[in-house]
Amino acid sequence: MRAVGGRARVEAVKSIAIEGTGVNYNLGQDMKPEAATQQFEITGYKRQIDVEQGRQRVDQTRTPKFAYFQGPQPQTQVQVLDGDIAFNIGANGTPARVGTGLAERDRRTEYFHHPITALKAATAPSNVTTISNVRTVGNVRQADFAFRDRQWTMTIDAAGLPLSISTKSYNANLGDVVLTTTFADYQDTNGLKMPAKFTGKVDDFTTYEIVASQQSIDTALGDMAAPAAVLKPAPPAAPNVTAESVGKGVWFLAGQSHHSVLVEFDDHLMLIEAPQSEARTLAVIKKARDTVPKKPLTELVITHHHFDHTAGLRAAIAEGLTVITQTGNKAWVENMARRPHTLQPDLLAKNTSRLNVVTVDEEKEFRDRTNIVMLYHVAGNPHSGTMLMAYLPRDRVLVEVDAFSPGAQVNPYAANLLENIQKRNLRVDKIVPLHGAIAPFAELVKVSKGN
Ligand SMILES: [Zn+2]
Ligand SMILES: [Zn+2]
Repeated sequence: MRAVGGRARVEAVKSIAIEGTGVNYNLGQDMKPEAATQQFEITGYKRQIDVEQGRQRVDQTRTPKFAYFQGPQPQTQVQVLDGDIAFNIGANGTPARVGTGLAERDRRTEYFHHPITALKAATAPSNVTTISNVRTVGNVRQADFAFRDRQWTMTIDAAGLPLSISTKSYNANLGDVVLTTTFADYQDTNGLKMPAKFTGKVDDFTTYEIVASQQSIDTALGDMAAPAAVLKPAPPAAPNVTAESVGKGVWFLAGQSHHSVLVEFDDHLMLIEAPQSEARTLAVIKKARDTVPKKPLTELVITHHHFDHTAGLRAAIAEGLTVITQTGNKAWVENMARRPHTLQPDLLAKNTSRLNVVTVDEEKEFRDRTNIVMLYHVAGNPHSGTMLMAYLPRDRVLVEVDAFSPGAQVNPYAANLLENIQKRNLRVDKIVPLHGAIAPFAELVKVSKGN
């Protein structure tokens, strides 16, 4: 506090406003598991922190610098926190509660990821904050503190300026994670030292960088109070899984936004995709077992590594399923299976299933007397470099995801999907997509020509 401007000055801060520009990265959605190449350019960034009321609002416009599934146009985002209530304001001005406990707690954590709010948290009365483990590490000093049911670590430099604040959190895919914001380029602002550079990380993965062009203390802020419409969180939707036959021994397991496909073989069942959450995937697995009760479900194909399509991967491993994936995802699958999930133990954290991974380079056939599934690498697709599609020659069905979503406003990856189908001379009648409704092959051809 002394280095930043003195305890009295820090404690008197009523509000902070930061304007700037920067970059967002694409955690869990990039081209390959290990990649961090996709960027959104951030313009019009404005972070307002109402220190007196415990509120924060971030406005920004993000423009994808890569082939984004929603198209290249800029998107505005407004993210607000009022106390413990987190909500977003849509482009039409409608507020929507964020609504999962974890995401709201993470936004609350973001509020404290600024030197002023972090220092106030760390020095709150001892019945609110417990500081421990004060230490020197190289030429920096660190201390841990417990605050608002989370564990925090602050790092300060030799002069005492905060270099970073870290908080332990949980992510359904990654398990235990540390959220870190680093502070750099301190400048004098209204008698306080304030960083002009902010870098956010989830573990070692950089999620954003913001450089402030203008900062101010104690200027009047807009109203950030949560409107009545968001005071009560909507209860989380229970998984709804439907089963529709799409061929002999093939079922489309849909019902919500992310679908799966069940394939029956002679002596076992194969599931394609374990999306969204442990709850969704367990409901999908139950539906698969109820649909063909006499055969064991033993295999899971994951189309690609994106977090929304693999949030049920660990649940499937816990249920004993062998994981089939493109070779480029193997190390990542092993890592996901191994990562600690102690803060919110999931099914896999509570049992010790052995992981079996089968890899597919360019293609692999799964065949017995009952059925045939060909898995192909969707080579060169700008959505994911390590993505598989499934072809069922007997029913001329192609299962794919994200490359073509029937009904979507834009389909920037569809032309590549069509190329992959044509270069392998696959005779496809029906596209069974894991987003959207089943479509005739002609629709893919039409959409591809439009792009
Ligand atoms: Zn994807
Ligand atoms: Zn998707």
